[in-house]
Amino acid sequence: MAVVVLDKICKTFGTKFHAIKDLSLTINDGEFLILVGPSGCGKSTALRMIAGLEEISSGTLSIGGENVEDLAPKDRDIAMVFQNYALYPHMTVFENIAFSMKLAGKSKEERTKRVHEIAKTLQLHTLLDSKPAALSGGQRQRVAMGRAMVREPAAFLMDEPLSNLDAKLRVQMRAEIVSLQRQLGVTTIYVTHDQTEALTMGDRVAVLKGGVLQQVDTPKTLYSRPVNAFVAGFIGSPSMNLFEGRLQNGRIELPAFSIPLSTTTFEHSPGLAAFEGKTVIFGIRPEDLYDSSLESGSRYATIPALVKTIEELGSELIVHLKIEAVRIDSGDPDAVEDLSGAANAVAKFEAVSAVQPGAMIHLAIDASKLHFFDPQTHLAL
Ligand code: ATP
Repeated sequence: MAVVVLDKICKTFGTKFHAIKDLSLTINDGEFLILVGPSGCGKSTALRMIAGLEEISSGTLSIGGENVEDLAPKDRDIAMVFQNYALYPHMTVFENIAFSMKLAGKSKEERTKRVHEIAKTLQLHTLLDSKPAALSGGQRQRVAMGRAMVREPAAFLMDEPLSNLDAKLRVQMRAEIVSLQRQLGVTTIYVTHDQTEALTMGDRVAVLKGGVLQQVDTPKTLYSRPVNAFVAGFIGSPSMNLFEGRLQNGRIELPAFSIPLSTTTFEHSPGLAAFEGKTVIFGIRPEDLYDSSLESGSRYATIPALVKTIEELGSELIVHLKIEAVRIDSGDPDAVEDLSGAANAVAKFEAVSAVQPGAMIHLAIDASKLHFFDPQTHLAL
């Protein structure tokens, strides 16, 4: 059973800089776990500590029930796939994949058999005599996977393995890696800064910020029940809109508009009622905002909004708006937030919407989809 257990792991660089703080995480046997977070949050450092490439400052780490803090990387029974693939340019695909078996003193017969098995799984069998320079990005990626697989490790560790590929190939390789991982059933820890990659690939996703684990959950739960405003803003694209408002008599009141809440909202957000008469942060995802002219009846409350720009994506429109509100910074250092003046809001409209830049519109809001956060702690209510 290749369960990987991190228990109160810390990493300090120099005397003061805490890159990882008290990270406790159990990755189950056969699980595909994604470590995600903005640049500099410590995800590569965490992976490198699991690999043994970086010393652990404090805490314990076990792989398959064995404490490995004092083991060299080669003795940890893990295989790592890096961003740059680290293939040997002078060796053929066959030799690259077989290299670690050769080092381990396996016979030529054994090597040939195993490499052919793997090449078949990865659809590399026609390329075994090629050198890396003659391969496409996706093929090189598969060779790097092959090199990791040949060792039959207890766990795969992958650090942004798709970041050198173009957008189309990335999407294709995501699916390939997921299906390969399912097929092999090997515990996998995968680092990315791309939340779409995280949501589409992981059984569970661990979100890091500033070296601190924020939430570890299934993609669905992260999306529907983020534990704080940071996770709410980081997960989902475009990001959740976060604003300030005052809770008053079952409504969120702002100077220019108010949004009525239903009793189910208070059931879903049990901490909300305690904020009666006070300011809260409320969040709404772009897909829960609508062009009211396309809505029949008065299903939703509406907010006056000015259309700034529109991105046409074919199947939908990403509409950038201004509303009279105070926008809240989710704390994601990678997000470009304009917090000045009237607040920016982003909505996803159906492609049939006829909104035009410069127009004032009534923006419909599905209040049952609102998320609420404590304005001081940013924790979900
Ligand atoms: P990215 O997505 O940009 O690769 P990351 O989340 O993987 O970022 P890490 O590379 O783990 O981040 O780095 C975490 C923090 O630790 C950063 O602030 C980085 O500058 C710092 N750091 C990493 N390695 C060292 C080192 N050897 N010495 C000092 N500081 C380091």
